[in-house]
Amino acid sequence: MNVMVLGAGLLGVTSAYFLRQQGHDVTVVDRQATPAAETSFANGGQISVSHAEPWANPSAPLKVLKWMTKEDAPLLFRVRADFRQWLWTLAFLRECTPARTRHNIECIVRLGTYSREMLQQLRRDIGIDYDQRTQGILHFYTSASELAAAEGPAAQMRALGCDRRLITVDEALAIEPALRHIAPKLAGATYTAQDESGDANRFARELVEHCQADGVRFLMSHTVTALRAAAGKLDHVEATDAEGRFQFLQADAYVLAMGSWSPLYVRPLGIRLPIYPAKGYSVTMPVRDASRAFQVSLTDDEHKIVFSRLGDKLRIAGTAELNGYDRDLNRVRCEAIVRRTEELFPGAGDPQRAQFWTGLRPATPSNVPIVGRSKLPNLYFNTGHGTLGWTHACGSGKSIARIVSGLKPEVEFPFLGV
Ligand SMILES: Cc1cc2nc3c(=O)[nH]c(=O)nc-3n(C[C@H](O)[C@H](O)[C@H](O)COP(=O)(O)OP(=O)(O)OC[C@H]3O[C@@H](n4cnc5c(N)ncnc54)[C@H](O)[C@@H]3O)c2cc1C
Repeated sequence: MNVMVLGAGLLGVTSAYFLRQQGHDVTVVDRQATPAAETSFANGGQISVSHAEPWANPSAPLKVLKWMTKEDAPLLFRVRADFRQWLWTLAFLRECTPARTRHNIECIVRLGTYSREMLQQLRRDIGIDYDQRTQGILHFYTSASELAAAEGPAAQMRALGCDRRLITVDEALAIEPALRHIAPKLAGATYTAQDESGDANRFARELVEHCQADGVRFLMSHTVTALRAAAGKLDHVEATDAEGRFQFLQADAYVLAMGSWSPLYVRPLGIRLPIYPAKGYSVTMPVRDASRAFQVSLTDDEHKIVFSRLGDKLRIAGTAELNGYDRDLNRVRCEAIVRRTEELFPGAGDPQRAQFWTGLRPATPSNVPIVGRSKLPNLYFNTGHGTLGWTHACGSGKSIARIVSGLKPEVEFPFLGV
């Protein structure tokens, strides 16, 4: 079958790889000149099954209210005259009940565990290298109440097979000695030895090279302008190429993987996808003093910041701002990340040479992605991965490839239309 994948971010590229494995002729379309140039460009690098607790949880409404006016808040809702933002926020609040949170954690852990296995399998199959580290992920807490709040979700994750165990401060220091500077402030930590980290952008670029060698076609610098339906199915895609020339693109099946932009293109087809952009920031800086720099991937839950070591660089990413499609770099938020990094790991990185970046996470209210069949029989979704698109990429890519091929997915998950 001819399958067209719309979007060459992490989700589009992994879909293409697994579709090709199923024997399909695959074409990928993206408006950028290179793959993974938008939200998949400089994320936190974590393959974190243990980061399964969604933003929407029982403690969120109060925190969000408290943070409303704080420019450097970890999660900031900027109220706009935007009906889509309000609808999304209402849906987000509905996901904050204990029962919905437990349900969402379960879906996220199941897909995450499967996805991590599929990433490891892919690594064995094609020998890809992307500054990966398999030293686990350590969540640390400087507030006893935040630590206590993490215990319930961690226990639920353990019951689902994700071994996120509570550890003492001494154990945390043995796993990551770079935490020694804040040792007196640490209330405790959790550790998930099976979690990983790595450079998602490098992974995507390497995977594209492999796919190209395997016959996948990439139409880069092609901007999708419309999806057109006829006779009850998706008939064709309209696009413009790098020179602005009109392109009429047709295939037997289509996988929509355009991240935060996905909902805009299916709305004219009468399909509403509950995805809203959640802007995040990252800072990448070279290691200055290796003896002070972290090796293990870390999560600072209270500040919603993650830390990954990518070769000789430190990647620090996080925070979220709901402010439409705005991608401006807010100085206050960038500086807050650098400040926190300096506070935790003084002298580890070189802030003078820091590179700042923002990306728009395609966030669903529950943080459960939208993977599966649409109401049009030949249009499929692999989108809405929010905070965990790197963690969930290989599992979602393989699942959508199986669904398109008429096969049952290998993991229990609420796939659409399956
Ligand atoms: C600060 C930050 C930190 C993060 N940290 C982590 C982490 O540590 N671990 C983790 O698992 N996840 C993390 N994430 C989330 C993860 O990066 C995203 O979920 C993931 O990148 C989304 O991938 P995607 O393929 O859906 O979207 P994208 O990467 O945005 O890909 C969509 C593609 O569609 C293309 N496109 C859009 N519109 C059009 C059009 N009209 N025509 C043609 N092409 C189009 C774009 O060019 C783009 O290449 C983080 C995100 C951010 C912002």
